[in-house]
Amino acid sequence: MTAIFLKNFPEIVKRKIELVTQNMYNKARICLTGEMTMAEKIILTGDRPTGKLHVGHYVGSLKRRVELQNSGTFDKIFIMIADAQALTDNADNPAKVRDNIMEVALDYLSVGIDPAKSHIFIQSYVTELTELTFYYQNLVTVSRLQRNPTVKAEIQMRNFEASIPVGFFNYPISQAADITAFHATAVPVGEDQEPMLEQCREIVRKFNDVYGETLTEPEIILPSNQACMRLPGIDGKSKMSKSLGNCIYLSDEPEDIKKKIMSMFTDPTHLRREDPGHTENNPVFIYLDAFCRDEHFAEFLPEYSCLDELRAHYERGGLGDVKVKKFLNNVMQEELSPIRARRKEYEQRIGDVYDILKAGSEVAKEEAAKTLSEVKHAMKIDYFDTPEFLEEQVKKYSE
Ligand code: ATP
Ligand code: MG
Repeated sequence: MTAIFLKNFPEIVKRKIELVTQNMYNKARICLTGEMTMAEKIILTGDRPTGKLHVGHYVGSLKRRVELQNSGTFDKIFIMIADAQALTDNADNPAKVRDNIMEVALDYLSVGIDPAKSHIFIQSYVTELTELTFYYQNLVTVSRLQRNPTVKAEIQMRNFEASIPVGFFNYPISQAADITAFHATAVPVGEDQEPMLEQCREIVRKFNDVYGETLTEPEIILPSNQACMRLPGIDGKSKMSKSLGNCIYLSDEPEDIKKKIMSMFTDPTHLRREDPGHTENNPVFIYLDAFCRDEHFAEFLPEYSCLDELRAHYERGGLGDVKVKKFLNNVMQEELSPIRARRKEYEQRIGDVYDILKAGSEVAKEEAAKTLSEVKHAMKIDYFDTPEFLEEQVKKYSE
């Protein structure tokens, strides 16, 4: 019936009508398969295994993930160890990536990611992601990738200007594949990932526009506290980052944490205790913003009742850096001590951690394979999955 109806239209109009019909069909399918599909809330997020995780990851993303995981409002949660992405700028150092798979998994478990609620998986095992990336590449222009502010900043940070590996340049596209493969609706990450999410949404819109409603547009979930958006390094550099070696790691021993905090960059104009100081752009105060709660004052610094009072004293002068740093050390030791203890327990059960990764990777692979078939169906390259292709060809050659 549709075929007879379409016969009288030019090709371009036919294609448009087909797309509209397919969109209507997909929307109807979602409605018909029930509320569950429409309302499903899915998280995808992850980290590169380029080092142990640090407190920037903790306040910027991990803490939130655990809260969301335990809130019970998400139907599925996928947490990815992005080894394939890590290789895009570490191609000559595969040992580094391999060595850090377990480190990142241990960090996840130690902060409270629960394998009974969240699937932790290894990116390269889910080969479907590479296939999706390959198709999405056709929907993005080189100039659009060049304009991506995160890619720009990272190229500069790695001194890649003259020799950017193609894989690295492409990684926003592969990140879109990671997110869409799970039909993720929410991506809890740090602020630096915002341009990536925007690029992903563009790919989704373009794909759905060209091939029919198939992919899901994700939303970013940023930390609610400004200080946690982009925690600076202990050297005062704009971002704590594994690649910059300016980190306090979640697994650091108490003495190392103390040493790092006591050597932290503060306000360079605050030379003597009596001098008025600046708290803005002062990493020690940014860390306090990210970590300290009013109860910490009662416990460790009862002369003050809250951070605003401490800040005001520092700004008017008469408060030394050492005292503030000692307080920060107490606060951070309290937060990190149970995490470190849990990590030590999991370190004694590496076989179990391995099984958790394997099981999570199997689930992720199955899920991504479903999306890949939907994508291939939408793109009309599902030749052997349904009898349609053969039927079409038989009909064509018998006419
Ligand atoms: P690399 O140097 O290898 O890129 P990284 O330290 O930047 O490592 P990623 O694995 O790239 O860490 O980032 C993982 C997640 O942690 C992302 O969601 C990112 O936004 C968040 N994140 C990383 N560093 C910080 C930070 N300093 N403050 C807040 N969030 C951060
Ligand atoms: Mg990074």
